Amino acid sequence: MKIKIKPNPNPVKDADRERFVAEPGFGKYFTDHMLVAEWNQNSGWNDAELKSYGPISLDPAAMVFHYGQEIFEGMKAYRQPDGSVALFRPDANGARFMRSAARVALPELPVADFVNCVEELVKLESKWVPSKIGESLYLRPFMIATEVGLGVRPSNKAMFSIIATPAGAYFNAEKAVTVWISTEYVRAAQGGTGEAKCGGNYAASLLAQQEAAKQGCDQVVWLDAIERRWVEEMGGMNLYFVRGQGKDATIFTPKLTGTLLPGITRDSILSVAKDLGYKTEEGMISIEEWRDGVASGEISEIFACGTAAVIAPVGTAKSAKGTWITGDGSPGKITMQIRNHLLGIQHGTIADKHGWMRKVC
Ligand SMILES: *Cc1c(COP(=O)(O)O)cnc(C)c1O
Repeated sequence: MKIKIKPNPNPVKDADRERFVAEPGFGKYFTDHMLVAEWNQNSGWNDAELKSYGPISLDPAAMVFHYGQEIFEGMKAYRQPDGSVALFRPDANGARFMRSAARVALPELPVADFVNCVEELVKLESKWVPSKIGESLYLRPFMIATEVGLGVRPSNKAMFSIIATPAGAYFNAEKAVTVWISTEYVRAAQGGTGEAKCGGNYAASLLAQQEAAKQGCDQVVWLDAIERRWVEEMGGMNLYFVRGQGKDATIFTPKLTGTLLPGITRDSILSVAKDLGYKTEEGMISIEEWRDGVASGEISEIFACGTAAVIAPVGTAKSAKGTWITGDGSPGKITMQIRNHLLGIQHGTIADKHGWMRKVC
């Protein structure tokens, strides 16, 4: 896939961009350009274009509006100490994008093309990459079904696009989030789309998120669909439990059963925790084990992880069955150690021994 560049004739003024990059928030300001590539069943992928950021014009009968064929990714470019810019594991995002596409019958985009498109956008927008620890340029690749017509079948046309937004710290890591354990709603069931990063999963999650807010909680925790007992994820993030304390601690995460989204942060933490000398384990944890573990002190820390927030400490958990508090409700030591280590690798201040960083410009 070749990429044609059509520079934006009216980019954001330097002073405004500098102001946005200094106080980025999350998903508030978008860069000057976006990437767009079209696919159709007969000729495959056309050349991509990097052009001015702006509205997309679609026929109201475009299939994405009716049957929700949409997938996306979330990834970040980080400023390095020498001023260069590097992506974190972009090939892993590309591989997951392929799997998500296959699950919702969208066309597969080769990983090399995916990574190349992301890199070219980052190169063009390098001035938009913030430099403080925890800040980044957040990239949002996505794909939608664009065939016009109301027949229910896989679209024979699709559009791939990438937009970029400077991002500050998503959650305040100083304060643990409170969670509502939902037994009423489920995120995913075996055979469904839980493993795919598709917009529909998020649509299905919003009501439970509203319920969590009504219960005075920041986030919802998802349980398995059958027994409503086994802990899966928190909102759009994976979960970790620290069992034991200090050097003997085991870093535990729910295993990928087919209903969890295989997070790249989750996967990276399994390696980082081992590098730091901890034992790691993937398995099943029930809500009773969560309750009893925090009551006895065996579970000493809980955190959630994902690209946007990196790591967010989890404190109080509420459910229809009661309220359980982990530790003193503030972020744990091991949580913060893993968070700082991962952020150090991403920002180039800690050696990247797994070859995760890909320098772009
Ligand atoms: C994106 C996502 C995650 C986190 O994945 P990362 O690759 O670590 O960003 C976890 N759960 C859900 C439901 C997600 O959509």
